[in-house]
Amino acid sequence: MIYNPKGVGEIELNTIVLDLNGTLAVNGSIVEGAKERLIKLKELGYKIYLFTGDQRGNAAELTKEIDITILRATNTEEKERLTLSLDFSKTVSIGNARIDIGTFKHTKLRIATIQAEGIHAEILKFVDIVVLSINDALDILINPDSLNATMRK
Ligand SMILES: [Mg+2]
Repeated sequence: MIYNPKGVGEIELNTIVLDLNGTLAVNGSIVEGAKERLIKLKELGYKIYLFTGDQRGNAAELTKEIDITILRATNTEEKERLTLSLDFSKTVSIGNARIDIGTFKHTKLRIATIQAEGIHAEILKFVDIVVLSINDALDILINPDSLNATMRK
């Protein structure tokens, strides 16, 4: 997808990196409505990755209906290493916690989701957009006008 916020220039994104707990899942369950939005983003050409320590051991089960690549990362350095193996200049990352800084440091666009588990204050300097929910984050990617409106100068 190509976005074009005024005063910023073209932003081309083809990859989404998600965190699981506190981001795609809250209190151990996938946020309602997120699955449909991710399927839509796949149709729009995005590759989707989940970087997670999988503390609850349920990442594969939770995401079985979504074409998503699950990669294990148990700390911020591992998230950073995985991020550097991707096309990070065309990647948008979505997360909520300090562990996600390793990903946020390198990706083109960074979105934090507050939801029920909150965000860590330290991540604020590494993110571009803060939204309430994962669905808000995914909707911004689905609707270029929304992303352009938030990112424009
Ligand atoms: Mg998290």
